[in-house]
Amino acid sequence: MQIVACPSCGAQVQFKSHASVVAVCEYCRATVMKDADAVKDLGKMSAVLEDYTRLQIGSAGTLAGRGFSVVGRIQLKYAAGMWNEWYLLFDDGATGWLGDSSGQYTVTTAMDATSALPAFEDIVAGRHYNINDERFTAAETRSASCIGGQGELPFKVGAGWQTRVADLRHGSAFVTLDYADGDTPVLYKGLAVTLEQMQCQLLRDDEQIRQTAGRYRGRLEALDCPSCGSAIGYLPGVTTSLVCPACQAVLDASTPQAQILAQSANVTGVRTTLALGATATIGKVTWQLIGAMTRADDEGSGWTEYLLYNTAAGFFWLVETDQGWSRSAVMASWPEWASVKADSASIDQVSFRKLYDYPATVQWAAGAFNWRVAAGDVVRVFEFESGQTRLAAELTGEELTWSRSTPVAFDQVRSWFGDTPAAIAPKKPPSTGSATRFALWILGLNAIPLLFNFSGTIFWVVIAIVAIYLSEHFFGAKNP
Ligand SMILES: [Zn+2]
Ligand SMILES: [Zn+2]
Repeated sequence: MQIVACPSCGAQVQFKSHASVVAVCEYCRATVMKDADAVKDLGKMSAVLEDYTRLQIGSAGTLAGRGFSVVGRIQLKYAAGMWNEWYLLFDDGATGWLGDSSGQYTVTTAMDATSALPAFEDIVAGRHYNINDERFTAAETRSASCIGGQGELPFKVGAGWQTRVADLRHGSAFVTLDYADGDTPVLYKGLAVTLEQMQCQLLRDDEQIRQTAGRYRGRLEALDCPSCGSAIGYLPGVTTSLVCPACQAVLDASTPQAQILAQSANVTGVRTTLALGATATIGKVTWQLIGAMTRADDEGSGWTEYLLYNTAAGFFWLVETDQGWSRSAVMASWPEWASVKADSASIDQVSFRKLYDYPATVQWAAGAFNWRVAAGDVVRVFEFESGQTRLAAELTGEELTWSRSTPVAFDQVRSWFGDTPAAIAPKKPPSTGSATRFALWILGLNAIPLLFNFSGTIFWVVIAIVAIYLSEHFFGAKNP
């Protein structure tokens, strides 16, 4: 360890790792560079956004028998959200990065590439690339800029520092190609991990997380919508992406003053079975429902997805369809999938047969999400099944994600949420218009024989259809 005096305020600044080039002064946020004999002040580093991460400088853990501690952090922002890269110092002096993005964690270390790496522009989510003799699937490409930093870092970084990165996965193996220095990327290779697997210690607890996130925003767990002024609860600080439940404005909460990214012409609320802010108790863990969205396929059938969050346990989704409920989580270890045209995918020696592939469009969203969500967003979904378990690949030009879901009985959902009136509201039709389509389908089915064999029954069929149509019109998905 080397200790220097901060050239700006005189406080002690530590360099624990020999690989560190700069360290951010804890007291005045000067970016201190140690250079041969001299110490330079490179200017102030922006404070990190106090998000809901459990990690902090000083957190420690073990990976494959090697102890490490967290000595630095950069926070990066891209079009769909933000993430943290924590700089790790291993006990043997080696260094690495712990990526912390939407509740998913990866550990990587820089290594040499044994063959040419693809150009950033040539990387497409879902395609395969050979990296050091292993076939990886592109998971995501993004252009990002540094919005804040803390502690020690191995390169000069400051406000406006930009990079382009591509993440690729194979099973639980993980690769990041970092194009910060131009067209030749730096290769970082490692694994998807969990904080539990690494026996992480000195993590922030619930109370610390809530206090700091609240302090940074000046308000605890709520902010006023800059578009319509209504208070938004539901832990907005968990994520940087918000959709105002009242006016449907899409907000970026990664700054103390939330910014409006898009206004919505459609301000009609949707009544969902589970309400925003509801809490569920599953085992000993309490989850809060922080986001809800309705999506529909190209045939117009719709479903509702609810995002649940717990400070320690992260995120999962509850999905409500015409067929029932399921619980879904993003997979850190990926299935094998030969190509987007392949009819099966497999993981852990289990083969999953493809059921459907269809475009899914967000129709309505409200609350907080761990990536940017807005009405009109379209992804291509590929669904696979084995027994009761389903896998879903969701693909856009920039991103591929895999999730695994299993069915949940509605009684189970009810027992998780309890019978508080706010938690379980009257069930709404699965999507706007589906009752009408159902009525027209019934008409089509029933009217054909009636055209040839006209009788008094047509009167009752018409009355029934009018009743169904009116009931949707008056009691359907729209709130008064
Ligand atoms: Zn200082
Ligand atoms: Zn609003």
